[in-house]
Amino acid sequence: MADRKIPITGHTELITLLATPIRHSLSPTIHNAAFEKLGMDKVYLVFEVGQDGLEDAVNGLKAMQVRGWNVSMPNKTAIIQYLDQVSPVTKLCGAVNTVVNDNGVLTGTSTDGTGWVHAIEENSGSIKGKKVVLLGAGGAAIAILAQAALDGASEIAVFNKNDAFWDRAMEKVQLIDQETDCHVTLHDIDDQADLKACIEAADILTNATSVGMKPHEDTCLVEEEDLHEGLVVMDCVYNPKDTLLLKRAKKKGCICVSGIYMMLYQGAASFKLWTGEDMPLDYVREKIG
Ligand code: NAD
Repeated sequence: MADRKIPITGHTELITLLATPIRHSLSPTIHNAAFEKLGMDKVYLVFEVGQDGLEDAVNGLKAMQVRGWNVSMPNKTAIIQYLDQVSPVTKLCGAVNTVVNDNGVLTGTSTDGTGWVHAIEENSGSIKGKKVVLLGAGGAAIAILAQAALDGASEIAVFNKNDAFWDRAMEKVQLIDQETDCHVTLHDIDDQADLKACIEAADILTNATSVGMKPHEDTCLVEEEDLHEGLVVMDCVYNPKDTLLLKRAKKKGCICVSGIYMMLYQGAASFKLWTGEDMPLDYVREKIG
């Protein structure tokens, strides 16, 4: 906001993010930089709202005719009950990160998967017909799974621990396998031989677990010897930017994609839905470093 050149007046419009805890979010930096660059009289602010306050917050934003907002945890599924309609990707993944308010009609969608697809395609071409190994079955993973299946990946092998996420993962894998042309399967990540064989046959490998994230940056779910030259390796973890998985992938001649791009492009997709404009990506990239 320090470099905001447009004064805040009675005309300034609000876009928000409702989540908790959320003060660390990069989204205000991304969206306010884009508004400033394009001379848009809008401001993006974060509010610490959890599930208890969500209905009141949504009613308030609707009454104030706010054009749109993001939600993050713990509101990504809870928000759906307060919306009028959801997108095809939300019907598959069961989550929303973006709400658009069209004159009182609230539509929810998830742009997390769009951000992932954009980041992959920018580095290695279309994902149509590609074989994907996806590590994880939490919020980020299922959003990626749904969008990648809708956008034409041919096979996606989801690997997860047999933990609290397993049953929901099975339900989503079966739904997305049935509802799209993509063949989707669920595997136990502790079966190292199966993981190795699937990675060997894959075009794209993505870590969508929290493994590798600070302060555990010395952890990684994949051995260097299991990676191969030309494999596209994307780590959703973006703190640190250069994760242990990406370091191993670089050594093996893989095409490496940082999670920071998924973050940026999911924001760009939301921005387009609210404003109809393309986010000035080069400028925003500089701002987030
Ligand atoms: P989540 O809590 O919903 O899911 C966590 C996942 O990690 C689950 O699948 C769980 O089984 C798995 N997991 C946790 N510990 C594990 C371990 N020791 N071994 C194997 N698997 C393990 O979290 P989420 O919201 O899906 O986020 C996952 C990661 O993706 C986080 O690091 C988050 O920062 C990142 N993320 C990045 C973006 C982006 O735009 N780049 C967007 C969303 C999330």
